[in-house]
Amino acid sequence: MFSLLFLALVGSAIAGPVDFEEDLKHNVDLERLQKDLKALDERLQNSADVDAEIELLKAAYSKTVLESPAPLNGSIIKDEDINEINEKDGEEKDLFEGDVLLTNEQLALIETLHKSNRSRRQALKDAGYSWGTVKPVIPYSYSAGYPKSTRGPTITDAMKFWEKNTCVRFKEVTSGYRVEVRESAGCSSYVGKINDRKGTQALNLGEGCMSVGTICHELSHTFGFFHVQSRFDRDSYVDIDFNNILTDDKHNFDLEGEDKTLLRDIPYEFGSNMHYYHKDFAKDESRPAIYAKPAYKVYQEGMMGRVPTFYDILGVNKHFNCAANCKSSVSCSNGGVQDVNNCSKCLCPFGWAGDKCDQRPAGTKKMLVTLETQTKRIHLPAGTKSTQYKIDYYLLQAPPGKKVQMTPEVLGTRWSNSCDPMGLEVKFLKDARPSGIQVCDWRVQQPTITSETNEMLVAAYSLGDQFAAEITFKAVN
Ligand SMILES: [Zn+2]
Repeated sequence: MFSLLFLALVGSAIAGPVDFEEDLKHNVDLERLQKDLKALDERLQNSADVDAEIELLKAAYSKTVLESPAPLNGSIIKDEDINEINEKDGEEKDLFEGDVLLTNEQLALIETLHKSNRSRRQALKDAGYSWGTVKPVIPYSYSAGYPKSTRGPTITDAMKFWEKNTCVRFKEVTSGYRVEVRESAGCSSYVGKINDRKGTQALNLGEGCMSVGTICHELSHTFGFFHVQSRFDRDSYVDIDFNNILTDDKHNFDLEGEDKTLLRDIPYEFGSNMHYYHKDFAKDESRPAIYAKPAYKVYQEGMMGRVPTFYDILGVNKHFNCAANCKSSVSCSNGGVQDVNNCSKCLCPFGWAGDKCDQRPAGTKKMLVTLETQTKRIHLPAGTKSTQYKIDYYLLQAPPGKKVQMTPEVLGTRWSNSCDPMGLEVKFLKDARPSGIQVCDWRVQQPTITSETNEMLVAAYSLGDQFAAEITFKAVN
């Protein structure tokens, strides 16, 4: 809890992309800082309650760790996530929140403000540092010697993901202010456009960063986004076990300023591509550093989405005011929103399809759920390795008035913290918009998930390796 004493919250949102250093100075609002520190004091008073809750969550978590875990088949491959890559390569010491770069101006200002021996602080609130709105274009280039021929295709696939789903466009250029993709041991980016004068700003994409999800994550920082677990409202959703985080790493859990406009009306989402994995920065990696609060415990294993979620996409579209590209309106079902790239159509939440989001994805298999427990083996055969997911959808349907109760029993074989290479995504809420729960770790007993309606969608996905899982399910009242 000690690190929270240093928590620093500054100023209100910045009006426009002007001189960075000047902006940052104007952005310091001491009155607000005092207010925030007072609120923090009050929170610390309550920390005994949080500690007690964490003890309970710790005990519950330890029960889910399987004694002799085994994947369903094949050899075991563990992929690393962004924070692991940066930590392994010793990159994280110069980074804020694990993979965020700060400018010298930001660091200098932060250090002056706080006179603490810890140098990484939340000084940059939202980006007024924008790449423009409505039709934002992000110019980029590769640094000399960057292995563009091998890594370029994955990078452009990530760019295409954002171009397909938002109004952001990327343009490869050779001069002018631009994002420069650089070789680095780790993966990191600045937040927003940090300068509009001249030169370049780094987007570090080392060898370990070559997945669409990871690059989309770094590009979100470039757009102007911080991490979900830095939102000022995160303590309503998760408990951070600071006793399981090294002192030098505690700054990674500092909070953003309490300015609701920064949330862009996007709810807290555990499965966001911008959320940390629950063991990132854990001192003892056998247990989490981030616990979902009891009301959300079903999300414990599902933090850190493999790719940007529907809400991640909506956040970017709001950030850049992409909706202004559409003059007409369209009505969409199941929480869909107008597609800013094709205004007569809808952009659908995961698990829905069609121009109006009123259909399930093509090939969805329906399974009747009865009161009797059934077991289903799901198998995705090995296919061509790709940056695009092969997804099989299973729609579990209980009789009207009943609910579906499902437990992923066995999972295999390749996995990562973000369940990037393969796994299951389970959609169980009535509201179709929030991401589902991702599961892929065969070393822990996965949670039993109960649907809010009589339907549950289970999606099995893989980037080309074979994937198998076993689920049990039944109908309940
Ligand atoms: Zn990040």
